[in-house]
Amino acid sequence: MTTGSVKTTCPYCGVGCGVIATPEPDGSVTIKGDPDHPANFGRLCSKGSALGETLGLEDRLLHPEIDGERVDWDTALDRVASTFRETISQHGPDSVALYVSGQILIEDYYVANKLMKGYVGSANIDTNSRLCMASSVAGHKRAFGSDTVPGTYRDLELADLVVLVGSNLAWCHPVLYQRIAAAKLERPEMRVVVIDPRVTATTELADLHLQIAPDTDVALFAGLLNHLVSSGSLDKRFLVHQTSGWGDALRAIKDVDLGEVANATQVEAETLTAFYEMVAATEKTVTVYSQGVNQSTTGTDKVNAIINCHLATGRIGRPGMGPFSITGQPNAMGGREVGGLANMLACHMELENADHRRIVQSFWESPRIADKPGLKAVDLFKAVADGKVKAIWIMGTNPVDSLPDADKVAAALEACPFVVVSDVLRQTDTTRYADVLLPAAAWGEKSGTVTNSERRISRQRPFLPLPGAVRPDWRIISDVAKRMGFHMGFDYEAVAEIFREFAMLSAQENSGRRDFDIGGLANITDEAFEDFPPVQWPVSDLVEDGPWEKRFFADGRFFTPDTKGRLVPTPLKEKLSIEDTEFVLNTGRVRDHWHTMTRTGLSPRLSAHMAEPYCEIHPGDAARLAIEPATLVEIESSQGRAVVRALVTKRQQEGTVFAPMHWTGRFSSAGRIGAVIDGAVDPVSGQPALKMAHVAVKPFKAAWYGFAVTRSRPGSLSASYWAIAPCIEGWRIELAGENLEEDWVGFAQNLLGDNAELLSFSDPSTGRVRFAAYRDGRLQGAFFVGPEPVPASRSWLIEQLREVEIAPHDRLRILAGRGGPGRSEPGAIICSCFSIGINQIAEAVTSGGCRSVDAVGNALSAGTNCGSCRSEIQGIINDLAVREAV
Ligand code: SF4
Repeated sequence: MTTGSVKTTCPYCGVGCGVIATPEPDGSVTIKGDPDHPANFGRLCSKGSALGETLGLEDRLLHPEIDGERVDWDTALDRVASTFRETISQHGPDSVALYVSGQILIEDYYVANKLMKGYVGSANIDTNSRLCMASSVAGHKRAFGSDTVPGTYRDLELADLVVLVGSNLAWCHPVLYQRIAAAKLERPEMRVVVIDPRVTATTELADLHLQIAPDTDVALFAGLLNHLVSSGSLDKRFLVHQTSGWGDALRAIKDVDLGEVANATQVEAETLTAFYEMVAATEKTVTVYSQGVNQSTTGTDKVNAIINCHLATGRIGRPGMGPFSITGQPNAMGGREVGGLANMLACHMELENADHRRIVQSFWESPRIADKPGLKAVDLFKAVADGKVKAIWIMGTNPVDSLPDADKVAAALEACPFVVVSDVLRQTDTTRYADVLLPAAAWGEKSGTVTNSERRISRQRPFLPLPGAVRPDWRIISDVAKRMGFHMGFDYEAVAEIFREFAMLSAQENSGRRDFDIGGLANITDEAFEDFPPVQWPVSDLVEDGPWEKRFFADGRFFTPDTKGRLVPTPLKEKLSIEDTEFVLNTGRVRDHWHTMTRTGLSPRLSAHMAEPYCEIHPGDAARLAIEPATLVEIESSQGRAVVRALVTKRQQEGTVFAPMHWTGRFSSAGRIGAVIDGAVDPVSGQPALKMAHVAVKPFKAAWYGFAVTRSRPGSLSASYWAIAPCIEGWRIELAGENLEEDWVGFAQNLLGDNAELLSFSDPSTGRVRFAAYRDGRLQGAFFVGPEPVPASRSWLIEQLREVEIAPHDRLRILAGRGGPGRSEPGAIICSCFSIGINQIAEAVTSGGCRSVDAVGNALSAGTNCGSCRSEIQGIINDLAVREAV
């Protein structure tokens, strides 16, 4: 293990915060925000702060395996290389594919892309970043001629108006949210508008929330463009000299009047006008957009509808203004730069451009170069299902959970003749389909670079040794490539070599013709690479002293053939009538989990905020369907089914439900929401519409509900519904069954362990049964059953697992399920850092007189560490204030 502190980068979201990791003598790792990193200046959110809890080796894949048997590296690599080679020779280059991830590093990505496009000769390499920002890429390319994010994070602080579209920034990019919140505190005249069908933690910051109907952003921005015309807010000079396409773009929407926008968005005309006037009057406007824009069948049009407004007003590339796409993953941007998408070449060069193909092929001195786009993620797995792709290598991602129509993805992998999975974990829902498992280095062990949402390249540095037989991805890919016969192109000894090659390629025949140029780093020494500070591209010349803050397009020069920015016509598409479907399902992230929980699911602290899969549903819909709060609901579509907890809330619009994307078969019986989403994609970007699925919702017919705490994770859970989460000691499990069990004692013994002393309580008249299991005076577990959701105090029971011994006179108290008089129930955890629950915060507000987030922080410490919960605390204060007023 490294001694001393190491500067690295957070592996979660696209903010790309700098982290200082300090291995401690006891084997733990202390995590702090890096005060010098320009993305976060020392801040970290709840996920970043808890990184030290996710570094254990339990569940790790530590050795290569073939068909579930441990093998040495030579055997595994030979098997992968020979099977890929034979498949290509028998069925052609397009019969094999790589599916990679925004979690892997630039150097890993670069080598994978080089292997497929330059040596195999197929572009069948796509990435899970297709699911998060492909529509932004496509929109950028249509408007700018390049996939360029024009602005910087600083613009979000300099703006007088920040418009957040389809972005729950407070939960999904918390540090950026905190930067905006801090700027607004400093300059109260700064305005924030949130455009989102849901009320979220982010809307707490909004001066104006436009709760639009799902997928109506194109209409909203059509109305804005018309308003900018009628209010005389256009920058005519910029429009005439620096853009093209104005006539067609305007013609496509000029007949869309305010009434039509109000009708489409279901937002009152006065509110729309207030928004339009705010934008028209504010030159320093930044429009931030994220998955709510991208994950749609009209995602690319939404992006261009937003960019059109910025081009028409010339508000782009200058401090405090511009369109700003926020990526989801830590290296989604890096994946775009290396050409990790099936329709791009390395260094933002284009597959369809013969000149670009020549540049890349001659630089690589590769035997061939792919000359047509490969299959995008959804189509790629359809081709696996159809048998067209016969060998697939999946790296660092979990498509059996994250892709739409996820059960079909599982079936496709089951039927695929050869599946290779490189991962850090032994058991994911995807590794179970692998013929060959390759153990990859995890965060904290690997070295390389990532690019965040503001084009800033930062180092990920190792501070832990490689455990077992684990290897970095770039080395595994290079070793397979060499065994496939491609010795020349993959003879790398160190990660810095790959970075230098990548930087050198970016400068080939560039001279300002392409946006992505880091040629100034092409000769970086190994030592300088080690010390490499975060830099924002372009870096065409190496200048030793920063400040490295770069914007694009302020000079009105774009990367289109005529150097003009393009306005793109975005006509309104016919909207799906709500009558065509019972509910619109929107999916997204929760505050404390990341993707399919392979890392955050290891942290008890992070698992406490949302401990099971749920769906938000409006009280009107819940009443109509006889769905009681906290009962279970089934979400169904023709693709599949999920069972989740009902969270009845007015924050959700009627006719819509929201469910998180995170839960997998490892943490729940049926929480995989990807299973119910169809594979509809945006026709331009190929990005799936993960925020607009059509589903039916109904009550889950539970004959019983249960809750358990257990010291060990049970080997199997036989209930129709279960969801499990780790606690600091042991596990918490929510359960339900469609049929009453005949043998509750046997069920409890299976759950709690059968060599413990079992205390029980049973009331046949109410159907309530309770068990507490002890061994040597210590609680081994407790299990509660009833006809409705179990009202036991979860936090108190979890605490009892940590007690060394339960006094004999207190043993029966466990069966009561709560701590008795004088012991208040903290309620659902809001502040993960200090384990402060909603009831404690409400008490501090109502009885303690706390009227601000800071006052609650002074009283309880809640919100005073990472700050991720501050918007929720503000929401609780606001809700209580409304109730008091009523
Ligand atoms: Fe990591 Fe949080 Fe920063 Fe995102 S905002 S990079 S999750 S610490």
